[in-house]
Amino acid sequence: MDVNPQMKKVIVLVWFLMVPAGLWFTFHHYPPSISLQWWDVLAFLLLTTAVASMPIVINDIYIFLIQWVALATFLRFGLFVEIIFAQFAVVVLLLKLRILRKGEFFRLPLNLNMFFLVSFFSGFLYYLWGGKTGTNLVFDSHSVWLAVLYVVTNYALNQIILSCNLYFIYKRKESYFGKDFVVETITTFITLPIGFVLYILYNQLGVLSLLCVGIPFVSLAIIFNLYYSSEKINDYLQKAAEIGHQMAECLHVKDVLDLFIEKLCEMLPVDYAYILEAEGDKLKLIRRIEAGMEHSNDTELLKINEGISGMVWASQKAFLFKTRKEWTRFTSDYIPNDVESIIGVPIVRSNKLMGVLLLASRRKRAFEKSQLMIIDILCSHFAVAIENATNYEQTKRQSERCALTHLYNYRYFENLLTDEYEKLSHFDRGALSLIILDIDHFKQVNDTYGHQSGNEILFELASRLTKLVGGTGTVARYGGEEFVVLLPDMPKEGAIHMAELIRQSIANWPFILSQSMDIDKKTQQVKITASIGVATAPEDADDPLALIRHADRALYVGAKRAGRNRVAEYVK
Ligand code: GH3
Ligand code: MG
Ligand code: MG
Repeated sequence: MDVNPQMKKVIVLVWFLMVPAGLWFTFHHYPPSISLQWWDVLAFLLLTTAVASMPIVINDIYIFLIQWVALATFLRFGLFVEIIFAQFAVVVLLLKLRILRKGEFFRLPLNLNMFFLVSFFSGFLYYLWGGKTGTNLVFDSHSVWLAVLYVVTNYALNQIILSCNLYFIYKRKESYFGKDFVVETITTFITLPIGFVLYILYNQLGVLSLLCVGIPFVSLAIIFNLYYSSEKINDYLQKAAEIGHQMAECLHVKDVLDLFIEKLCEMLPVDYAYILEAEGDKLKLIRRIEAGMEHSNDTELLKINEGISGMVWASQKAFLFKTRKEWTRFTSDYIPNDVESIIGVPIVRSNKLMGVLLLASRRKRAFEKSQLMIIDILCSHFAVAIENATNYEQTKRQSERCALTHLYNYRYFENLLTDEYEKLSHFDRGALSLIILDIDHFKQVNDTYGHQSGNEILFELASRLTKLVGGTGTVARYGGEEFVVLLPDMPKEGAIHMAELIRQSIANWPFILSQSMDIDKKTQQVKITASIGVATAPEDADDPLALIRHADRALYVGAKRAGRNRVAEYVK
């Protein structure tokens, strides 16, 4: 929501041209009553300040219920004093909201202009209709109606100018008459009778009436805000529980990380988010979100006590920094230049530090203590979810692999074959070749050198196969001493060539045994051969099982029966 600099200058200029002249005009045409006592004015000004500095927050909307004080001020002291008070109230409001940051100063003249126009025109119309201001006004039905009319004009002008500002200055296109508008309208009109009561009571009781009305109002505002902040914490807790559940459902570490970062950025005013993982005595950045975009994690590893993350790690305590001044002494961290507020929370599981979460905002005081507590809770949900996902991934990996050779096992291969065949059927692949290999006379090898040595050969063979096939396909252990290679997009000639390379790499290079049964020799060399069958879809098979069956047939009929140590292709 950027406002262009020219517009900002115009806004300031309008204030200088309009407000002093308007005040002068008002002073001459509607002078404050002569009996005006400074003590009274000061007391009202104090009340204005107190009420302006105590906005009520409903659903993240700040509501300033200043109109009732403005009404009493107007009725008692007239338009001139009311205009000055309104200008003063704007300064208090904006200071309270801390929105007068760099580049946002134009908001002060913008709001001053708006309040001036509202005060001036509603007062002007009130006088035009014959309304009176001053001490000891007698309210009959006519004057009450005039006062109500004043209030309505005041409110309506306020809303009209506000929506014009949003439309023309902030270029906001969405409807202005949303929930904010309804809540503000209702609360404004509910509190307005207090303005009347204050005026009447002031005539009777003097300054005491300000306390009679002001104290209950301010107390209610405080109670309301306390209630709201506890509601907000409730809301945060509920969200945290929900995010915890969602993270618990994630099976993969990446999904947990994505969800965690996404939800944090949604829930809190976060401009930068970092997750660092503890790796021995170092912290490694594993997620880096800046201005809603994921960036690479190419920063240097951090040591314990280094930077803010290192400090969070060393102390295992959560930290909240409200402004830049509070954290600049820990500068070696990777922190962008425009950061002001920072939250750092350790991610701990079973008393062991797993990592550090760092959230940052460009705004000062962007985070509250209550949010720190919520993030702390979320981090423990996160730690559990990461641990579960890591376990799941590890179990899954193990369930897909053969423990001896670390190759994929039959279960994995079967699923892969189905997937690849599916792609072939949808013409995502041109061909799908399968190589199946069985070691020749392996029983004898076992009988001669022992089962353990047989295992060594299987292990060595697995690594030769993996190296040879590389990225062109997937090697899996099909059964005891049988292996398969699945080659997507590989036509038959290519597969036969690959099979021949495999055959040679087995037959031409003896296998080294280190645990031979032969006690005299420490290592022994064994020469083995293998028979290989090849089939290619779509020409050799109509379904995945047929592809295996036909490659197997080529292996037994074409290679084994023909004398072993050879490659055979499927023939119909
Ligand atoms: P051929 O295939 O040439 O007909 O003869 P072969 O002796 O290899 O016969 P077959 O394929 O039927 O025998 C498989 C043998 O492989 C049986 C078993 O001793 C051995 N074997 C199977 N799995 C393992 C294993 O995990 N480790 C070891 N050491 N041997 C295994
Ligand atoms: Mg066999
Ligand atoms: Mg065999």
